[in-house]
Amino acid sequence: MKTDGIRACQSCGMPMSAKEQFGTEADGAPSKDYCTYCYRDGAFTNPGITIDEMAKIGGGMMSQMYAIPPERAEGFAKEQLSCLKRWAGREIPLCESCGMPLARDEDAGTEADGSRSTRYCTYCYRDGGFTEPDLTREQAVERYAPMMAANLGMPVEKAGEMVARYLSTLPRWRE
Ligand SMILES: [Zn+2]
Ligand SMILES: [Zn+2]
Repeated sequence: MKTDGIRACQSCGMPMSAKEQFGTEADGAPSKDYCTYCYRDGAFTNPGITIDEMAKIGGGMMSQMYAIPPERAEGFAKEQLSCLKRWAGREIPLCESCGMPLARDEDAGTEADGSRSTRYCTYCYRDGGFTEPDLTREQAVERYAPMMAANLGMPVEKAGEMVARYLSTLPRWRE
């Protein structure tokens, strides 16, 4: 598996790409899973924090940045956190095209031989190919932004910014 590029912290969800964004193990090696804010010297910086407290912090930032009502932002943050290793007990892979969590077998797309994809969801990828191979990142933003805006009760332009930023962390759209 390719691990270059961007990886989400499995505690807070922050995208990590630069080396200094990764936390450290007890021996000083970079953590594979956690960011420098969450994890240093082999331990969580805030070991007692709960997923709700974490969602409040993350949701608060999202609410300010993207004009989302605070409770909705917190709910959304919690949904995202619940796919991370620290909170789910295992790392749940996200579709590398749309970001949907591949939590259950049937969420995953299919390869040409009928086996389940480990990278893409069933909406994006079937029978070994993208369901919409010509979709551009801009079109994807236009498609997802109104749904996001409706879901979170935020202005569509803000949803566009949020989706564009999010998609740029996913392998299919990374430049
Ligand atoms: Zn983190
Ligand atoms: Zn997908």
